[in-house]
Amino acid sequence: MSETLHIIGGGMAGSEAAWQAANMGVKVVIHEMRPKVETFAHRTGHLAEMVCSNSFRSDDDEQNAVGLLHWEMRAANGLIMAMADKHRLPAGGALAVDRDPFAESVTAALTAHPNISVEYDEITDLPEDGHWIIATGPLTSAGLGAAIQAETGADALAFFDAIAPIIYAESINMDVAWLQSRYDKGDTDEERKAYLNCPMTQAQYEAFIDALLTADKTEFHEGETAGYFDGCLPIEVMAERGRETLRFGPMKPVGLTNAHAPDDKPYAVVQLRRDNALGTLYNIVGFQTKMKYGAQTEVLRMIPGLEDASFARLGGIHRNTFINSPTLLDNQMRLKSKPHIRFAGQITGVEGYVESAAMGLLSGRLAAAEILGQPIETAPANSAMGALVHHITGGAEAKTFQPMNVNFGLFHPVEGLKGGRRGRKDRYKAYTDRAKADWQAWLAAQS
Ligand SMILES: Cc1cc2nc3c(=O)[nH]c(=O)nc-3n(C[C@H](O)[C@H](O)[C@H](O)COP(=O)(O)OP(=O)(O)OC[C@H]3O[C@@H](n4cnc5c(N)ncnc54)[C@H](O)[C@@H]3O)c2cc1C
Repeated sequence: MSETLHIIGGGMAGSEAAWQAANMGVKVVIHEMRPKVETFAHRTGHLAEMVCSNSFRSDDDEQNAVGLLHWEMRAANGLIMAMADKHRLPAGGALAVDRDPFAESVTAALTAHPNISVEYDEITDLPEDGHWIIATGPLTSAGLGAAIQAETGADALAFFDAIAPIIYAESINMDVAWLQSRYDKGDTDEERKAYLNCPMTQAQYEAFIDALLTADKTEFHEGETAGYFDGCLPIEVMAERGRETLRFGPMKPVGLTNAHAPDDKPYAVVQLRRDNALGTLYNIVGFQTKMKYGAQTEVLRMIPGLEDASFARLGGIHRNTFINSPTLLDNQMRLKSKPHIRFAGQITGVEGYVESAAMGLLSGRLAAAEILGQPIETAPANSAMGALVHHITGGAEAKTFQPMNVNFGLFHPVEGLKGGRRGRKDRYKAYTDRAKADWQAWLAAQS
């Protein structure tokens, strides 16, 4: 059996995975299909090309989860962060990057590494043996997508994400909202209270529909509309089809009694469903949307109980290939049915350049350690890296699994700290302090 690590896809995740494994002394081959085979979003043949915005988002490692992920990757000698820092552009608290020099220097560093070679070819089959990481991203080529689907089953591979907004539980006003499953269905008290309900009067419903109809929306790209129009229409499209459509769809008020005012029959109800095992995040059921981000927060805060909602992620509909990691991967990011194959990057159901690179960093280290015969534990649960990998490989609801950004809702609470908005600053500082200590200990155990 070959002791070389093969990585399919030289994007954010594949590049970082290669760097980490090569620095641990493992020979790596990156298989990248560009420039021979192109995608609709990439423009160049460089590795680690940023396909859209040039931002790595917040660089605040004390108060922001993505800033913390930056910190952890820097501490682990991450290539993506080193090159992002080198080609940083002024952008206030955000880390904006000069995209072409960034991608050129990632490519140069990888091709100059004595343990790394790059083969420019498209891989279309799942390898039968060896050590592999699949990091082919949201635009995985059709051939490989079909091979993954054949292995995992059609339901376990998505080609679009239709994301409903996700809200921090602590920001929902429980004096207005209440917990109840429709018709009190369920065998346990927990199941009978599995949903959080926000009631609307007729006037509130009409105003909400007006706001949906006039909100700024993102246009669909060519070919984007296939696949999701049947099952998961954006709410604004439903509203366009008729003012009552939502009231007979995801906002139907039946089978629910307002716990705060049992005699008031709501005209419509918005339901939220628990999004993680910790119960810190809730998604709005059936509320996939193409509203622009600014419009989205404005419109969704019109929902009674969500006036002060903080969003862990906003909704969207995109071309995006990703697997159902909670059912398919173990916590070492290995495909359970073919453990010689790991997955990394956006295809695992994380979202964004930084999160994808982070999952590359982790999978590269895990794979190299296994090849070297010194397997290591996956990232500690209280680090940003660990919070993310534990979410995708188990913490998330498999049935409703959708791509996720890193956010503090994925972290185990720190005991003894004040909840709510007022305690947020201290809480986030406590999360990031704890994460840094655990991450450093994990790194130190490998050196
Ligand atoms: C249109 C679009 C816009 C986006 N905008 C943003 C944004 O603004 N900000 C953000 O943070 N994220 C954005 N994303 C998400 C972004 O793609 C990811 O954050 C990040 O690039 C994912 O990293 P990755 O390594 O998983 O995939 P990628 O960076 O896409 O890398 C995957 C690589 O695999 C290669 N590949 C695919 N199939 C094969 C194959 N069969 N054989 C060999 N090579 C293959 C591809 O050519 C590519 O180089 C966007 C995605 C899309 C599709």
